[in-house]
Amino acid sequence: MTQLDADVLVLGGGPAGTWAALTAAKRGARVVLADKGYCGTSGATAPSGTGVWYIDPDPAKREAARTSREEMAGFLIHRDWGHRVLDRTYENVNTIAEWGYPFPLDEHGVSRRTSLQGPEYMRLMRRRVVKAGVQILDHSPALELLVDESGAAAGATGVRRQEGGSWTVQAKAVVVATGGCAFLSGALGTNVLTGDGFLMAAEAGADLSGMEFSNAHAICTTHGSVTKTLFYSWATFFYEDGTPIPGADSRKRSVIARALMQGKVFAQIDRADAATQVAMRASQPNFFLPLDRAGIDPFTQRFEVTLRSEGTVRGTGGLRLRDETCATSVAGLYAAGDAATRELICGGFTGGGSHNAAWAMSSGSFAGEGAADFAKSVGGKRRTLRPAGGVALRETQGERSDPAAVVAAVQSEIFPYQKNYFRSGDGLTESLAQLDGVWRAVRAADAARPEHVVRAREAAAMLATARWMYRSALARPETRGMHKRLDHPEIDGGQRHHIITGGLDEVFVGTAPIVETAVARAAA
Ligand SMILES: Cc1cc2nc3c(=O)[nH]c(=O)nc-3n(C[C@H](O)[C@H](O)[C@H](O)COP(=O)(O)OP(=O)(O)OC[C@H]3O[C@@H](n4cnc5c(N)ncnc54)[C@H](O)[C@@H]3O)c2cc1C
Repeated sequence: MTQLDADVLVLGGGPAGTWAALTAAKRGARVVLADKGYCGTSGATAPSGTGVWYIDPDPAKREAARTSREEMAGFLIHRDWGHRVLDRTYENVNTIAEWGYPFPLDEHGVSRRTSLQGPEYMRLMRRRVVKAGVQILDHSPALELLVDESGAAAGATGVRRQEGGSWTVQAKAVVVATGGCAFLSGALGTNVLTGDGFLMAAEAGADLSGMEFSNAHAICTTHGSVTKTLFYSWATFFYEDGTPIPGADSRKRSVIARALMQGKVFAQIDRADAATQVAMRASQPNFFLPLDRAGIDPFTQRFEVTLRSEGTVRGTGGLRLRDETCATSVAGLYAAGDAATRELICGGFTGGGSHNAAWAMSSGSFAGEGAADFAKSVGGKRRTLRPAGGVALRETQGERSDPAAVVAAVQSEIFPYQKNYFRSGDGLTESLAQLDGVWRAVRAADAARPEHVVRAREAAAMLATARWMYRSALARPETRGMHKRLDHPEIDGGQRHHIITGGLDEVFVGTAPIVETAVARAAA
């Protein structure tokens, strides 16, 4: 049993968690960071190259950056957040350069800082976190939060996968940076992203926002896991008989989804010239790995592809934020990165490609600072703590549930394109009836055996996430951002608000207003 005391506990060690740990430590907090995997190699950023929303502080460029996505985002962006995120991202990326990250030079000898290679970036972040005196618990998934008598977050408990046994960290503030939920779809880097932070925070009373924007799908080889999709801009898509699919391209994934509902789909990257092919291999070597291993030349041969769910990871929904410190609705509990809603800068359109990376490093920084300040306000107060978790953790005298069966039940409602990519009121209602039934069974089930408890909590988190998603999707009878309703194919100006959700046995939904912006007002 590992027992530790900290001012700030950070859950998750991706970019959001490591930036939170660094900024909290910089404010003088004693920080512990617990990661489900090995901090620096785990999560969505670590295995991929990542574009960053890094914009020079030239007012015209900044204004253009902030407004460019308003329409795609369904007019849900809060411009003031765009401003803060751009400022902090610029500062953080420049700090990364000072730490020695090898940004490439352009043809004029100017350092190009609009993308980061995940492995180098996260290796560097780990080194800086260690140097800042943060104690890291690797391979230590958090299972549930601790709260004090007032309901404020006060730490967490989890499992030490390699050492064996459990860990408990009592802390004055907690940052949830556990990433999003990709429903174990097999997309690279997302095997650890099962929505655990959503469940833990909701058990403590936090609510979520934008969970209808959770149906991101990436093009991927059927036999591989790499979901980098940029190179498919140079691809042609084909039916199994070799006929090109009319209208299919990497930006019109709904055409690909419809073709996949009929049969197999193949791609060939046949529109890249020789120089582009060389540049592609140099810039994203891991894109080619599954193809090379299968002996396929993607420039001259067709290969089978699918659309793999990335859920909220390249969606935008997550824990709702109350203020600019990234505080949630639970005192002492902060959220950052994909664990938090990214609607503030992305609205209902995917944050992948640049915004999410900027959000992870800036919201992580804000949350770390907010948590450190909150910890100071708690001071040396004596607190009586209790665990906030429930499902799969407490004895009920019921049967034990089978995590694999729960995962399969959730996936069967989330993966079919006709249920999640193309949504309808009837379909969502049917799925919710299934998911609610599974939830009742899981809720009544006995505590999981110690060797299954991580899987059981992951399954419960995926199940809870699916229910928040579909309740939110039902509460938005329109098509906005990535949320597509077949029965309501148009955007409805009367629904320009956020959908708030939460609750466990009884899922609630409500709305929250968005801050008006001149452009949004004019366009909506
Ligand atoms: C293939 C792909 C490409 C992408 N490309 C881009 C891009 O080019 N530009 C862009 O802006 N965005 C991109 N994104 C999105 C971007 O990767 C994420 O937004 C970013 O990684 C979020 O950072 P994070 O720290 O919140 O989460 P993650 O990087 O996912 O890290 C979450 C961490 O939490 C840990 N964790 C999970 N559960 C627990 C638990 N119970 N206890 C303790 N720790 C836990 C995980 O192990 C992991 O280390 C891409 C995503 C994918 C999947």
